[in-house]
Amino acid sequence: MSTIFSKIVNKEIPANIVFESENVLAFKDIRPQAPVHILIIPKIEIPKVTDIKGNEHAKLLGEMFDCANKLANDLGIARNGFRLVFNCGNDGGQEVYHLHMHLLGGRHMQWPPG
Ligand code: 5GP
Repeated sequence: MSTIFSKIVNKEIPANIVFESENVLAFKDIRPQAPVHILIIPKIEIPKVTDIKGNEHAKLLGEMFDCANKLANDLGIARNGFRLVFNCGNDGGQEVYHLHMHLLGGRHMQWPPG
């Protein structure tokens, strides 16, 4: 089922887009949890981590990580470090069922997460 993120991919609703390629889109989270908080998503609809198939999606996932590294460099958080998060399912705290990687940085992260 389509989510609000597909509407962002299709430019039906606005988002603060910071990166776009053929297969990947990245935009600022509407409720940022850190000075840098960007969501990196595949344009195709993969609901969650458990729907990932290594043989089918490996290149796409690689592109998402390339995007995260490029943005971390461009935004000046690569040197001090950052956090990448995939929330999966109810216990994982997933709110939007369109696969997304959170890129969080610009402050020191705590562990364990909440
Ligand atoms: P999840 O909890 O599913 O891992 O993360 C979903 C994220 O999407 C949340 O951090 C939430 O703030 C963000 N979000 C939800 N709706 C929108 C939206 O319409 N636009 C943007 N830019 N972010 C959204």
